[in-house]
Amino acid sequence: MKGLAYSKTALRFFSYPKAFKTSRLSMQHWKAKLIDAYRLSTVPYRNWKLRQMMKTGQVPVYSLFYHRVANETPTPWTMTEKQFKQQIDWLSDHFEIVDLQECQRRINSGFNDRPTVSLTFDDGYAENCEFALPMLIERRLPVCYFVSLDFITQQKYFPHDVELGLELPVNTIESLRALDLSGVEIGAHTRTHIDLGKVSDPEVLADEVIVASKELEDLIGRKVRYFAFPYGQYGNLNSAVFKMLREHGFLGACSAYGGWNEIGEDAFHIERIHGDPNLERIKNWLSFDPRIASVRSFNYNRARDNIKLPNKSIAEVFEGIKSPVTIPENFASPHSVPQNSLDTTS
Ligand SMILES: [Zn+2]
Repeated sequence: MKGLAYSKTALRFFSYPKAFKTSRLSMQHWKAKLIDAYRLSTVPYRNWKLRQMMKTGQVPVYSLFYHRVANETPTPWTMTEKQFKQQIDWLSDHFEIVDLQECQRRINSGFNDRPTVSLTFDDGYAENCEFALPMLIERRLPVCYFVSLDFITQQKYFPHDVELGLELPVNTIESLRALDLSGVEIGAHTRTHIDLGKVSDPEVLADEVIVASKELEDLIGRKVRYFAFPYGQYGNLNSAVFKMLREHGFLGACSAYGGWNEIGEDAFHIERIHGDPNLERIKNWLSFDPRIASVRSFNYNRARDNIKLPNKSIAEVFEGIKSPVTIPENFASPHSVPQNSLDTTS
């Protein structure tokens, strides 16, 4: 009898999504409490650490990456509007939110005595234009928005969503132009959201990274200055791509393996941390969590050089690769192209 009652409860648990959802939520709730307890128990150390770093001008620079802010159709890479607002409120109270170029200037200068963070988005989900981006624009908070070209131009769904049986709309060219005009920096995230760590054909690399970025530039009428590696873990990075980006005048390249940027280190490579929906986790990561501190930087100059660039110059590689994209005749960019003012070679 007892066993039957138990199995009935179990059945109810698994059959009713609501019960399951509630239980998952309460698990998340307790996890968040635990993370917060851990952080709070080390607050004196963390505050001491911050004071030391401020004194010596060695406060590391953080960069966060988000994907999709929407209330409907939750996925592991989605956060609700409420969560996003809460997070931006907290960040605004505790950090200077600056653009990627200012992040790089602080890293490059060798001295930073202010808690600093920059905001980025990857992929290009349409719903971001409903709440998250308008809120950032309204608050005049800088953001870099990385998009994968083919998904925008062909309006197709990301395979990682399709795998979950979801068809999540992506941004249109028009929305990217509107974002650009509102001051959002549009960045490149390859043509097909390819794992660049697995690519060794230099022509594919050139097309995915440089040609696709040029096409994006033509479409929005503004120079694309930053690049973000799809997936962004160590194994998805590629030293040949870093080299190409530098040769083609990009200002920087972003990874996503969860490191901070130490002052005085190479500012071309910007290490980013996942914009987790859980604010407790963000508070923990962004206040000298020893686990973030111990993340080692990917050094592309010393990385295994598995990609042999061809003897011919990159320009020669591009010969024959013709961009299928033409700028509409009546489209005039209201901006002049900003000069590459940041010296990232030193
Ligand atoms: Zn991505």
